[in-house]
Amino acid sequence: MAVQVYNTLGGRKEAFEPIKPPRVGMYVCGPTVYGHPHLGHAKSYVSFDVILRYLRYRGYDVLYVQNITDVGHLTEDTAGMADEGEDKIDAEARARGLHPMALVELFTKSYFDDMDAMNVVRPDISPRASGHIPEQIEMISKLIENGHAYAVGGKVFFDISTFKEYGKLSGRRVDEMEAGARVDVDTDKRHPADFFLWRNAEPGHIMQWASPWGQGYPGWHLECSVMSGKYLGETVDIHGGGLENQFPHHECEIAQSEAANDCPFVRYWLHNNMVTVDGQKMGKSLGNFITLKQLFSGEHERLDKAYDPMVVRQLVLTSHYRSPQDFSRDALVAAESGYQRIRDVVIAIREAMGSARSGDVRPKTSEALDEARQRFEAAMDDDFNTAGGLAAVFELVRTGNELLAGEANQAELAAVDQAMRRLGGDALGVVKDEYPEAGGGQSLDAVVQVLIGLRAELRKMKNFELADRIREELTQAGVALEDKPGGTVWRRT
Ligand code: ZN
Repeated sequence: MAVQVYNTLGGRKEAFEPIKPPRVGMYVCGPTVYGHPHLGHAKSYVSFDVILRYLRYRGYDVLYVQNITDVGHLTEDTAGMADEGEDKIDAEARARGLHPMALVELFTKSYFDDMDAMNVVRPDISPRASGHIPEQIEMISKLIENGHAYAVGGKVFFDISTFKEYGKLSGRRVDEMEAGARVDVDTDKRHPADFFLWRNAEPGHIMQWASPWGQGYPGWHLECSVMSGKYLGETVDIHGGGLENQFPHHECEIAQSEAANDCPFVRYWLHNNMVTVDGQKMGKSLGNFITLKQLFSGEHERLDKAYDPMVVRQLVLTSHYRSPQDFSRDALVAAESGYQRIRDVVIAIREAMGSARSGDVRPKTSEALDEARQRFEAAMDDDFNTAGGLAAVFELVRTGNELLAGEANQAELAAVDQAMRRLGGDALGVVKDEYPEAGGGQSLDAVVQVLIGLRAELRKMKNFELADRIREELTQAGVALEDKPGGTVWRRT
């Protein structure tokens, strides 16, 4: 069965069929880098990370593009257009006495540091808006030429009256937008819902470029249309983003791209839901605005301890990407205990493999593994049900613990480890390849194997004294060797 995805455009689950399988083009709106990433970023980018990982797990060859917004995202949300006020990057750079590009560098690095810590796969391409000004000017010119945009006083607006499908993603109607418009909408607009493609630079605006309409900078919505088209083609398989960007941002992207290219912009629109903190919307004025760095360090008045970034990842996966995610202490502690249960059994299995007897995987074990994999895929095929996927990983935890408590052989432990790496690691990203914090279980095995080999050679050379000393000193270091018919195995004492 094919993967089923919930397409916001049309509002229903559909079988996922990319344009040119196995290739998939996936674009996700990236962060506006004017501050450290917060809980909302964790929800959004961990959610899309699992979607990416699962499509790759399913054999799709995904090219993943996620932009960095470094110009044109304004502070004021007038008439719901995020289209007025100051440029967020410029305003923050001025407040900190930094060049806007230095600010962007600082917070882009901060963003990737936090994403790396949560085991989020990096995008294949991370294009920046400021690096694509000529392409944006080109699209604006095209829209003016074919009558979808108009220039006035150094500004260019998209004329929504020329795009009859405006509102098809969000379900908003143009007459409602007019009724909700505030009085201070730019008077050069023909319709309050017309949006900026190009703005004339205010005095002191540092980031500005020459254009056919004078010095200025592009509107926020334009960059995603342009960069998605440049790297993934005029029609892209998947476009993702936060629910808060469905309108106006994604609605405007559709209008620009479809008016310019005269073909569908996106096949599947995927939106992640938002986060709350203790049941309340997160906001700076509410005192519950928590950055990821604060969560990882515990340094925030709402937190009583630090949380491992992987615990935050685990928490995000416990709810569906289309459901809201509440960050409460109870939820974090529950996710922590779930993450540790998985981690502990994986570490124990990897350690036990070194000293387990040889043998074949027994039918009971291989059935349990098959069943877990089938449940996992059924859940994840159903619009990326990560809670169901985690439940299947916990079945592996159970199987692993049963084997560890009984007479497991090496092949069985390796099979459980492999399933953990595949489902919990490759697809969900909650199982790591290495756990340095575990005291080097795997590297210890490698070292002990070297000593076992040396001891065997010494015995062949009849140097029993030195061979026995290796065994004695290992015992003192907490590693017991046992000579069995199939060779020497070891265990911790
Ligand atoms: Zn976007």
